[in-house]
Amino acid sequence: MHHFTYRDGEMFAEGVPLSRIAREVGTPVYVYSAATLRRHFRVFDEAFAGTDHLVCYAMKANSNQAILRLLADMGAGMDIVSGGELQRAKAAGVAGEKIVFSGVGKTDAEMRAALDYGILSFNVESVAELHRLSEVAEAMGRRAPVALRINPDVDAKTHEKISTGKAVDKFGIPWLEARAAYAEAARLPGIEVKGVAMHIGSQITDLAPFEQAFTLMADLIRLLRADGHDIRHADLGGGLGVPYHGDTDMPPHPDDYAAMVKRLLGSLGVKLIMEPGRMIAGNAGVLLGRVLFVKETGSKTFVITDVGMNDLIRPTLYEAFHHILPVREPAVDAPRKVVDVVGPVCETGDYIARDRDLPVMQRGDLFAVMTAGAYGAVQSCTYNTRALVPEVLVDGERFAVIRPRLEARDIIALERLAPWQVKDEMA
Ligand SMILES: *Cc1c(COP(=O)(O)O)cnc(C)c1O
Repeated sequence: MHHFTYRDGEMFAEGVPLSRIAREVGTPVYVYSAATLRRHFRVFDEAFAGTDHLVCYAMKANSNQAILRLLADMGAGMDIVSGGELQRAKAAGVAGEKIVFSGVGKTDAEMRAALDYGILSFNVESVAELHRLSEVAEAMGRRAPVALRINPDVDAKTHEKISTGKAVDKFGIPWLEARAAYAEAARLPGIEVKGVAMHIGSQITDLAPFEQAFTLMADLIRLLRADGHDIRHADLGGGLGVPYHGDTDMPPHPDDYAAMVKRLLGSLGVKLIMEPGRMIAGNAGVLLGRVLFVKETGSKTFVITDVGMNDLIRPTLYEAFHHILPVREPAVDAPRKVVDVVGPVCETGDYIARDRDLPVMQRGDLFAVMTAGAYGAVQSCTYNTRALVPEVLVDGERFAVIRPRLEARDIIALERLAPWQVKDEMA
């Protein structure tokens, strides 16, 4: 469910024609729908109504300040994975007690900053991290609130680059070492055990792997309590998928996900923490681009566009599929062609779609890369000295630039010559 629809023969984001944004801001540009973001957060949050819970949006999916503020205003907490994301959460006005900190490689400085801000929980991913966190907290005269992230060794049946809950993935403490790790945590002076955490992967479109993982989690909580640990919260991670294709990859509805969670964990009296990222932001954004040239070679037709892999790396990094829709609504019987939609970057991996059957497009045509709100702009870069792609937020009839385009001159201004390279202009 999203708010990018054809109206009067062209695509709108809520009440704003995409062609107007292209004209005023230029392309490529990410366009987000506030109504879609609100709706996704509400549907997910309301699925857990009546249970003690906190939705901590996984901000690495899309961490723009305007997006964070919108979600924080609705009561969202945040799942952070770096000190930089902590700064973003603070800047967006998110209270420490609504922040959980995940990630396998936290530095001392990041631990200190998070302790200082009084976060809800460190999701600790190794015994080595547990020891260091205890030392850092002790030196500050504090105890760090902790959940151990347990790797349940379940197959989330997702792309290998976004699987995180198998024994071969770098994440979490192995299932069989969980009890010993909790015993160790209880002995450490700078640690206060609060909960259990899991996150098995991303773009999961089937409830079964979640059910396997949460069954293990419920067993573990009972076991840990029997061992004398005061387990107060269960952090279930994120991972609910979005329909990139729209037919073959329909994810479970949050209501069904929540019903399963309540069935497995509801009787334990733990506070539930969820960390959805993609599910909140994915369908709430499109990447708007323009066709530069159409090139026919002997074997292929290339639609060359101004959207590069530096703007959206998902197709080449994860073999991701994104629908591409012309901004001007094509007639039902419009001619079609199988094409490669590519960008201008000097890399063979620079494509948005390959061998895709699309309505014929011409130089100057605008198009929307759909479902690009999550893991899109956050992974953009300036490779080939391309301007950093801007972001726009639409809310009803209004729109605003929420990240301006960083132009080549701005990029160059970040760099400097080594002192010995500077020629004495006066000599
Ligand atoms: C990336 C991540 C998430 C969010 O995953 P989605 O698939 O976007 O919901 C949640 N928790 C952790 C620890 C993550 O690394």
